[in-house]
Amino acid sequence: MTPQRQVILQYLKETVEHPTAEQVYHKIGEQFPGISLATVYNTLNMLKELGVIRELSYGDMSSRFDGNDAEHAHLVCQTCNGLIDIECPPQSQLETPELAAKGFTVRSYRLEYYGQCGDCQEVSSNKIHAS
Ligand SMILES: [Zn+2]
Ligand SMILES: [Zn+2]
Repeated sequence: MTPQRQVILQYLKETVEHPTAEQVYHKIGEQFPGISLATVYNTLNMLKELGVIRELSYGDMSSRFDGNDAEHAHLVCQTCNGLIDIECPPQSQLETPELAAKGFTVRSYRLEYYGQCGDCQEVSSNKIHAS
């Protein structure tokens, strides 16, 4: 592994922010000022292919990168775009009888709950009180 690759992997393992490629680029640029955005993209793709990080794509919005390689679900705040890791429900609850009936073999899950995080709810309730 090149030092850049190691630093990018390390950063994704430590952060809970689920950064975009651009955010990774800005962060890693503090340590490797010469690094290009293309190198960051290539490195993220390589790490993804190695299966040590995950890419979460959201249609038109930039993908988010996740260094948490344990099976987990996400809480997606639609106000601040925050992504919070939570434990997945037990596999037995996800694999319903219907899956077996369809003859489908599940390799992985991407489970997301959409809504508003606690911080954003606090901000919006403060706004209501202030007005
Ligand atoms: Zn939020
Ligand atoms: Zn995650």
